[in-house]
Amino acid sequence: MTLTQELESKVQALKSMECKTCLFDSSFVKIEEDGECEMCKLQEKQRNQAREPWEKVLDRIKKKGKGRKYDCLIGISGGEDSSVLLYLAVKVWNLRVLVLHFNNRTNTPEATNNIKVLIDNLNVNFIEYFPAKKEYDDLTDSLLKAGVPDADLSNDVIMSKLTFKFAKDNGIKVTLNGHSFREEGSSPKAWSFLDTTYLLDIYKRFNHKDLYYYDVLTIWDQIHSALIGMDRISPYHYAEHNRSQTIQELKKIGWKPYGVKHGENIYTKFVGNFLLPNKFNIHKIKTYLSAAIREGNMTKGFAKEILATPPEFDLNELGERKDHILRLVNLSPIRPRSDYKQTNYKKLKPLFWLLVKLRIVPFSMYAKYCK
Ligand SMILES: [Zn+2]
Repeated sequence: MTLTQELESKVQALKSMECKTCLFDSSFVKIEEDGECEMCKLQEKQRNQAREPWEKVLDRIKKKGKGRKYDCLIGISGGEDSSVLLYLAVKVWNLRVLVLHFNNRTNTPEATNNIKVLIDNLNVNFIEYFPAKKEYDDLTDSLLKAGVPDADLSNDVIMSKLTFKFAKDNGIKVTLNGHSFREEGSSPKAWSFLDTTYLLDIYKRFNHKDLYYYDVLTIWDQIHSALIGMDRISPYHYAEHNRSQTIQELKKIGWKPYGVKHGENIYTKFVGNFLLPNKFNIHKIKTYLSAAIREGNMTKGFAKEILATPPEFDLNELGERKDHILRLVNLSPIRPRSDYKQTNYKKLKPLFWLLVKLRIVPFSMYAKYCK
């Protein structure tokens, strides 16, 4: 082996250095000196931050709701995480909940059924929000044309805004979400990038105008929510809450499972199971499996066995937009995110730290974007 070859092989080995604990590697996360990746370190911090007993957190939610019509707002997708959360909130924790669903018209039949079953059985007030179709489709198309892996960003950004807007308009001080770092982990920044400035620039770049109907969460909204004392809580961070037993209860009232994680929405499933692995070599399942390994719920060997089965997606599920979407995917070259405008998170680091302390911004977001 020549010196050049030796150097090249060393560079290659460094490039693909795997975390000693999880499935992540140095091609998309930073590996620390002890051989563990930054996302393992993040999960350890999240575990330490969630030591407060759930009963105490619940007490805080109820105190905030005293004298108000609702204790909290929950956004639901028809998927398992939010369905279980809503059921627990109403039936077990006795919270008065306002329910919100953002319907981007790509729900699976199971999700549609599950939302109906929950609303019919739990006797809760429900807001279903539909975005303006043409503009939403143009926005989704822009993200495909941009050649970046953040194809489902529009969904996440509008949901954050709607949660804030409807909570504020209804005098609600607490929003609950179904995220669990223990089961889902967090996506590395290289894999998903939640930034409004970036989304707005991509839309403008490919449509030559600003978004008109579609309202996005701004940093001012986040400051506003801190000033009016809003609290963003992830109950799964504090306890397991008998999830499997709750799913059995849900099935009794007609709730239906839908297979893969986040498979309740056709477009989200297309992005996670087809677009990301095939075009960007991004396998989101590594995030969920790695989270389980870090919690000691799965061995790395077993996780690799699961990973060996390629994700499935039937393209016909995309319906009448199938050919159009595939044409955009095939015609748009992969481009770096730096081709588009972005929020300068590093400059806003002190502000975001404050928002984390006030429980408005999740710590994972601060750790990923501001450091
Ligand atoms: Zn790791």
